[in-house]
Amino acid sequence: MAAKPIVQEAIKYLRNIQQRNGFLNAFVRVSPEQAVTAQAIAASQKFETGKSISPLNGSTFAIKDNICTKDMVTSCSSLMLADFIPEYDSAVVAKLRDAGAIIIGKTNMDEFGMGSHSTTGLHGPVKNPNSSKLSVYSAGGSSGGSAAAVAGSLCFGALGSDTGGSVRLPASYCGVVGFKPSYGLLSRQGVIAYANSLDTVGILARDVHSAQLVFDCLNEYDPADPSSLDGHSRRKIQDHVAFPKPAANQSCRWNFGVPVDYNVVEISPQVKKAWISTLAILRDLGHNIKPVNMPSTRHAFGPHILAISKPANGISPSLQLVVAARERGFGKEVRRRILLGSYSLTSEAMENYFIHAQRIRRRIKEEFDGIFSSPNPLGPTQGSHLDPGASVDFLISPVSISSAPNLEEVTKVDASGVDGYINDVFTVPASMAGLPAISIPVHGAGGLPIGLQVTAQYGDEKNLFEVATLIE
Ligand code: GLN
Repeated sequence: MAAKPIVQEAIKYLRNIQQRNGFLNAFVRVSPEQAVTAQAIAASQKFETGKSISPLNGSTFAIKDNICTKDMVTSCSSLMLADFIPEYDSAVVAKLRDAGAIIIGKTNMDEFGMGSHSTTGLHGPVKNPNSSKLSVYSAGGSSGGSAAAVAGSLCFGALGSDTGGSVRLPASYCGVVGFKPSYGLLSRQGVIAYANSLDTVGILARDVHSAQLVFDCLNEYDPADPSSLDGHSRRKIQDHVAFPKPAANQSCRWNFGVPVDYNVVEISPQVKKAWISTLAILRDLGHNIKPVNMPSTRHAFGPHILAISKPANGISPSLQLVVAARERGFGKEVRRRILLGSYSLTSEAMENYFIHAQRIRRRIKEEFDGIFSSPNPLGPTQGSHLDPGASVDFLISPVSISSAPNLEEVTKVDASGVDGYINDVFTVPASMAGLPAISIPVHGAGGLPIGLQVTAQYGDEKNLFEVATLIE
């Protein structure tokens, strides 16, 4: 971006926030104008030096409020952390700043990422920018603030976190691109954990190209994150998944798998139509569409138990204080998850819930390895190649069973219990297997946006971005 427009654009976003955030509730904290301008001027100066600069220099970003930002409250939308000011930037925010990006503020979310509609947090619900005065829609969750900020033109791009769909679902409801990378590629240092073995930093952007630029900027080994993939493994990935790029005029085509088990009765007619017409477009472009079996998907809800189960210690008197603080500080959904998680780890329930969920997780991984044409670069799972007939490069499915639901209705469902977890059924499998997946908006005729999800083999983001551009 040229020097002068950098400042102008940052100010334009600030004005948009002033005008629209009162309704959208996407931002919970906005950087002061002075700080935004200072960052924009620094980016302009960098530009004027003429040195090679990042394509993100001068771009304005919003950061989900569970990602630490130096000197700025990072609350996870929880009363528990309402005054928590980190002394450091998370690795991903530091990288954005190094690239010359402008951090404009922190975005609203479900408390600690637990939820699917950005309704469970301290700051009240986020509203979908596609809402009208008469119908207010859910922005999805838990990164609903980040998705609404991008969709409502309050920033250029945003960071979120995706543990079971929290970037892909709000992207789909709001009509933006939402990308969850392979587990271990983007550093989680300074990202407040929900479920360590599933959490990833995700990216929300207005198009696939922008999402890829952000990914490329952040994709680097970080010794400060124990789950970050090291350089050796990263090189191994490149060797493994470098299958040939199909040329438009050659017989080499991509093979897209359509998981027949995802065709559940709950899918709305509009989502089904969007899915089918995208498949038709891909077929017309000369790609192959193959049905594949992923029977464990319908059990994907079970592994939520893994996300919420943490080994518990007995409650000694000295922990009474902690218990009292938890009662006061955590909202209803978080308390419900803690209780469910603790119950699933009791001796009577361990086998039925926790161990069972682990088993399902393994089966889901095996099913993915069984259908992808390229092997898993991290090593094959035991039961790989369960379905030798179906060898595909990508899976394509809806992100969710419907477009954005009415906010009032989902708030009632959230209050009543676990029904709301149905929203995660298509997104949880990629999280369980640690695979990269992207939500791409497809605009149904006159209606609300619908997101389609493309999932790839571990580490194959390069080709994933490439095919995503075919659909957007
Ligand atoms: N909606 C899911 C949950 O509530 C996933 C959330 C997430 O990815 N953080 O657990």
